[in-house]
Amino acid sequence: MNIKKQIIGLIKGLSLYELLLGLGLTGRYFFSKKVTIQYPEEKTPQSPRFRGLHALRRYPNGEERCIACKLCEAVCPAMAITIESEMREDNTRRTTRYDIDLTKCIFCGFCEESCPVDSIVETRILDYHGEERGDLLYNKEMLLEVGDQYEKIIQADREKEAKYR
Ligand code: SF4
Ligand code: SF4
Repeated sequence: MNIKKQIIGLIKGLSLYELLLGLGLTGRYFFSKKVTIQYPEEKTPQSPRFRGLHALRRYPNGEERCIACKLCEAVCPAMAITIESEMREDNTRRTTRYDIDLTKCIFCGFCEESCPVDSIVETRILDYHGEERGDLLYNKEMLLEVGDQYEKIIQADREKEAKYR
C-alpha cells in the first residue's frame, strides 16, 4: 500500500467518513416513502394473475365445471394432481376424486392453463398453512369450497384477463 492511500485511509478513519455515509443512507430511507407493510393488517397489491391456493369452480346453476378430462393431471409437472372419474346416469363424466398435494405443487399454473372449462384455477389466497401431515392435501370437497367462497373474485379476475387468454 502506498503512502497516499494510507493517508486517505487515516483521514477517512479519523473523520468517521464511512460511519457518516451509513448514517446518511439511514437518514435517506428514514424520510423516504416506506416499502415495508404491517402484514397481515396491510397487504401488497396483487395481480389478477396471482397463483395462490387452488380452487374448483361451479357454473352459476351449481353444476361442477370439471368434466374429468384429466388434462390438468397430465400436464402437472409435479404430479401433484390425482383424479378418478365415472360416468353419471345422464352420460356426463364427473370426478369422483380430485386431489391436489400442495406439498408437491410448484404453483406453475399449468393446470389452470390446460383446463378447457375454467374449472381448476389458482386464487389470490396465499396465507394458508398446514400444521399436520396431510393438511396440505386438498381433496375435491375442499377445493370446491374454496371455489364457492371466492367465486366473485375469481370471476372478476378472469374477466380482467380475458383479452390476454
Ligand atoms: S400449479 Fe403446476 S404444479 Fe401445481 S398442481 Fe397445477 S400444474 Fe401441478
Ligand atoms: S379441472 Fe379442467 S383440466 Fe382438470 S380434469 Fe377437470 S376439466 Fe379437465
